[in-house]
Amino acid sequence: MKKTLIASHVAAMEGYVPGEQPKCRDIVKLNTNENPYPPSPAVARALAGFDYASLRRYPDPMGTALRTRIAEIHGCRPECVFVGNGSDEVLALATRAFVEDGGAVGCFDPTYSLYPVLSEIRHVACLRAPLNDDFSWRMPPADFMADLFFLTNPNAPTGIQYPKASVAAFCASFEGVVLIDEAYADFADDNCMDLATAPGNRNVIVSRTLSKSFSLAGIRTGYCVGPADLIDAMDKVKDSYNLDAVTQAVALAALNDLDWMRANAGKIRATRERVAAELAARGWTMTRSSTNFIFARPPDGDGRRVFESLRAKNIFVRFFTALPDYVRISIGTDAEMDKLLAAL
Ligand code: PMP
Repeated sequence: MKKTLIASHVAAMEGYVPGEQPKCRDIVKLNTNENPYPPSPAVARALAGFDYASLRRYPDPMGTALRTRIAEIHGCRPECVFVGNGSDEVLALATRAFVEDGGAVGCFDPTYSLYPVLSEIRHVACLRAPLNDDFSWRMPPADFMADLFFLTNPNAPTGIQYPKASVAAFCASFEGVVLIDEAYADFADDNCMDLATAPGNRNVIVSRTLSKSFSLAGIRTGYCVGPADLIDAMDKVKDSYNLDAVTQAVALAALNDLDWMRANAGKIRATRERVAAELAARGWTMTRSSTNFIFARPPDGDGRRVFESLRAKNIFVRFFTALPDYVRISIGTDAEMDKLLAAL
């Protein structure tokens, strides 16, 4: 018999399916939680002033300038910061650094659908802890064991922010690493970064991304903050040059202009509240969003019909077959949201 060429656990996988990136122009794209506003003008200056001749050299393998700036923002040491090619890379590397062969990853159900795929790639089990029926926080059972728990806060695709005291209590009782995925934290009232920077912290890592609040999904930068020994472990398992030189320069420029990011996040929050109120007035039900999207159920509970009929009008939202009553609507500009409301 011939040797099989593809590893059996990879052959058995379906792989992650990202939201559509349609090529046509006249669309309203509310399906992948991108920011509708452009990044800081400092980003344009960094790109225009970038010395192309320097590209013959490898980039700084440690992203030192970026780590230093991120450490300054969060009031920690640069040794406690890891930078990645999008926060998706940070999540993937956590499965490499913290999960034993034959071990397990844990996460809530429902949550970001990449985590089970990362577990499949790492060839370990993904154990799901149930939430309450309204998707609110439910403490995982006391005997819940995993090497690494992905805790998305605010959660996706529900948009719900868990109470910080509950998150802290779970982190204190859990024996493995807890990675709090805060991709959407800049749109929320609160965050858990201080759990990662607290002096006695041994097992909590908080990840962030520049893809949403900083309007930089296209350059792929994410990072995480945590205990120096865990960050050191992630450095060991990364590609040597995981962030290219252009990305490092652009990300640094964006992180030096927090006011721009905060102003856009404020606009998006205001639009979110307006659209949520309008949908509620029309009989939709939805979770309380702390993110740049709304997870909403139409009055007839037929999420697929809404998704398909909007798509026919070139308005793209996200539909999850596992949660068929709902659609996830990213917050666009006010004009885009008015088009959505008119189409509905
Ligand atoms: N975490 C969550 C919860 C997300 O929704 C996303 C976006 N798909 C990511 C992480 C990844 O973001 P990125 O890789 O663009 O930083």
